[in-house]
Amino acid sequence: MALDVVAVFTNLAQHGPNHQPCATMAAMTTHDLPASARFATLAVHAGNATDAETGAIRRPITMANSYALPYDPTEMGWSSADGNLYTRNGGANQHYLEAKLAALHGGEGAVVLASGVAALSATFFSLLRAGDHVVFSNVTYIAAYRLLNELFNGKFGVETTIVDATDPAAVAEAIRPNTKLVHIETPGNPTVSVNDIAAIAALAHQAGALLVVDNTFASPYNQRPLELGADLVIESLTKYINGHGDSLGGGIVGRQDLLAPIRAQGQVNLGGSISPFAAWLIMRGSVTLPLRMRQHNESGLAVAGYLEGLDRVRFVTYPGLPSHPQHDVAARQMSPGYGGMIAFGLDGDKDVHNRFVSNLRVITSAVSLGHDESLIVFLGPDDERQHLYPAAYHQGFFRFSVGLEDTADLIEDIDQALARL
Ligand SMILES: *Cc1c(COP(=O)(O)O)cnc(C)c1O
Repeated sequence: MALDVVAVFTNLAQHGPNHQPCATMAAMTTHDLPASARFATLAVHAGNATDAETGAIRRPITMANSYALPYDPTEMGWSSADGNLYTRNGGANQHYLEAKLAALHGGEGAVVLASGVAALSATFFSLLRAGDHVVFSNVTYIAAYRLLNELFNGKFGVETTIVDATDPAAVAEAIRPNTKLVHIETPGNPTVSVNDIAAIAALAHQAGALLVVDNTFASPYNQRPLELGADLVIESLTKYINGHGDSLGGGIVGRQDLLAPIRAQGQVNLGGSISPFAAWLIMRGSVTLPLRMRQHNESGLAVAGYLEGLDRVRFVTYPGLPSHPQHDVAARQMSPGYGGMIAFGLDGDKDVHNRFVSNLRVITSAVSLGHDESLIVFLGPDDERQHLYPAAYHQGFFRFSVGLEDTADLIEDIDQALARL
């Protein structure tokens, strides 16, 4: 596999810069990995290379916001994302991480931005215009809902329809002649519902629309939507891919013809660029993605199964359990596992749920997910989107991100917190 992320820079290099950045650019050659390289090998090597200046076998952090101009800068577009010009238009560490993300998803390329929401905004902003119609799922990250259902719909004349995307027939029914894009999330945040990617991709394509899949809950280790027909995949890199809870980032992966406008418009002109340090941290965290996901998968399944057997637990949603309403779809499109995200509710009111959380000693009450540590958040019955979810969720429920602690300690923590209710 040729992972030459810097092909885009040859343009600038050929122009002959006036004070020697050529040497640095030439140094950015990547490992020439065999085309057969597998996921774990890509997680280690993709996007990394030996630094020609120092011989370091780790690419450095380039904390520069500006790069040397060529002899005749008038040949460059100031809004171009094609070369090293200004870090908002693209930077070295961003491009290394893009190479890895593209490799992990089997995409032609990737655009990496400051957050998952920056990736969502850049995608919608770049691909939609007034008069277009978007179909999106009832279960999405809150900012996707706000962007589509309030900003694009209310301010920019983009029509939107919310559907229960667990039912492909509902998606088919919602599609109109002006449908430009279908946006789904699977497993979905926060209910952990599952959508059939291949079926929805086929429906979108029949109508000449694009399918965008937010893959954050699965990570590319468990699910690669491009292989199932999706046009673009979005990842909040903040979550599993970084995995250590110390950075924000977002990525879009797919075909270059779709990424080009996202880079040119969304990245350069919305300006949600990632800091080189954040990109470096995520690059570093992502090396252990396969190892971490193996544990998240194992503990997620074990803890979900345990919860399901408890009297005080009203319901559990985990794609790996046969009781999950879309377990068959999950089994078809997720492999080797189902991740560490669980939704569950207790028998009891809001106060019972809050007391349970305050009794926990190992599991931390905080937003975000996919970290090394287990995180739980209570989504109360008053949540404005509760009515979009199935009835079981209306009483309030937990979104639980099972971390990398010893599974027995997590189970004991749940037991003691329930016992002290
Ligand atoms: C967290 C999250 C996002 C947003 O990512 P940020 O990095 O927090 O901006 C988008 N989609 C899903 C499914 C998420 O869980």
